[in-house]
Amino acid sequence: MNGQVVIIGAGVAGLTLADRLSEAGLRPVLIECEDRIGGLARSFRYPNNAIFDIGPHRFHTDDPVVHRYIETTLGDNLITIDRNSQLFLFGKYLPWPITLKNVFALPPTMMIRAALDLIVPHRAATESFEDYIIEKYGRTLYRAFFKPYTEKFLDYTCSNLHRDWAEAGVNRATIDKKVDTSSLGALIKSVLFSKNPQTKFLYPKTGGCGTFCDVLAEKVRARGGRILTGAQVKEFAVEAGGKIRGVLTSSGEEIAADYVFWSGALDALRLLGQASDDVPRVHYISTVLFNYLVSGRISQGFQWCYFGDADMEVDRISVPRNFNPDIVPAGKEALCIEVTCTEGSDTWNDPFRYDCVIESFLLHARLLKSLDHVDDMHVERVRRTYPLYALNYPRKIRGLFRWVNETWSNLALIGRTGRFWYNNMDHSIAASLRVADRFLADYARGSLARGEAYAAEDRHLEA
Ligand SMILES: Cc1cc2nc3c(=O)[nH]c(=O)nc-3n(C[C@H](O)[C@H](O)[C@H](O)COP(=O)(O)OP(=O)(O)OC[C@H]3O[C@@H](n4cnc5c(N)ncnc54)[C@H](O)[C@@H]3O)c2cc1C
Repeated sequence: MNGQVVIIGAGVAGLTLADRLSEAGLRPVLIECEDRIGGLARSFRYPNNAIFDIGPHRFHTDDPVVHRYIETTLGDNLITIDRNSQLFLFGKYLPWPITLKNVFALPPTMMIRAALDLIVPHRAATESFEDYIIEKYGRTLYRAFFKPYTEKFLDYTCSNLHRDWAEAGVNRATIDKKVDTSSLGALIKSVLFSKNPQTKFLYPKTGGCGTFCDVLAEKVRARGGRILTGAQVKEFAVEAGGKIRGVLTSSGEEIAADYVFWSGALDALRLLGQASDDVPRVHYISTVLFNYLVSGRISQGFQWCYFGDADMEVDRISVPRNFNPDIVPAGKEALCIEVTCTEGSDTWNDPFRYDCVIESFLLHARLLKSLDHVDDMHVERVRRTYPLYALNYPRKIRGLFRWVNETWSNLALIGRTGRFWYNNMDHSIAASLRVADRFLADYARGSLARGEAYAAEDRHLEA
């Protein structure tokens, strides 16, 4: 075996794995379907010199191994920033996670009803998002925030969503482990007895978040690895027993393969394996970004803000300056507006039809004083930003993973998109570091395992 590894997808997961394998002397080939590397962690640099990430992107980890890896990769090109996230609710900007000082800004009747929810507990009857949230935080907070925000975000009813979306989503939005979100009582205690948590993030000093992937890509290339962009896998050349021995790309190149790691779309993999209708399908949500450059500065100091009201079209806005002032031209403000949708929807097909809606939203949200202050706007369509955790997704994903493992003996799924995992960059990094360790140990012994042996994320998929 020559140790020829092909990695599909040049996002954080694929590049971290390629970095480790190339460091050990292998020469991986990465195949990326987009014109640029970085996946969901890429950045956009426009002629106006502003740099935008895909929504708010910053590094945060409690894992010392991952922390060290980020520091080693970015070296001196790293700054530490304090978190400042907010929630727009009832016409007000409130800190998120909410603090004692701001609890009193909420309508008093709502506060009383939320407190009564503590006395009349709700027992979850299903594994749904709805039941999970009501059991943990009560009906009042569910109706006031979780339901309208989630249904707007995913365009899916909360009773048909799996509780995993809630568990991952609440952790993702809260971040700081000092805020105990395990129940309404614990949350209230956190709010009453702790100060606003001072979470620290890491962010590149130059460029946007995408600098991390750019550095990894440079290292991989310098060690003899290859990265093909704008390239798709057209076909696998497969031997008896399901062993992939080559990958044919859309440009007609055949790349020899001893092992394939797939961090790309699972629907594309189903097509490559000519899956029958019995093999479950899973669905992703996509995002349209409206990246604005406007004159003047906004007074709200947030890095990102959630917009909970159902009748506000926008899910979240982030302000690149508050991650790093150097990525925004002087005297200007950059605003990254996220609108989630499905591919093929009206928003996806013709986002410019909605820029007027976005701009009047900015006026109402007090983030723009006049439409004349808009200097520049770029639209980015980003595929598969989130896995859709429908109520029956564990069964489907287990069926799909089983089919992958039975179809190919030397293909492993990695990363957020490849493992249908609502994760963060640090999780993709941690998992790829573990995959690399296991793979290299097996490679040194001369006996590689089947793909499922290299699935290294720390999430559970309930039976
Ligand atoms: C709006 C938003 C905000 C986020 N904020 C943060 C944050 O603040 N902090 C944080 O740590 N994480 C954040 N994340 C999560 C983070 O972006 C991801 O966890 C991470 O980038 C996942 O990397 P990955 O390589 O596992 O997957 P991906 O980035 O999805 O990489 C998969 C790659 O495969 C490519 N691909 C797909 N199909 C094919 C195919 N058929 N052939 C070839 N290539 C293919 C894709 O183009 C992509 O480059 C955020 C995510 C989103 C969407």
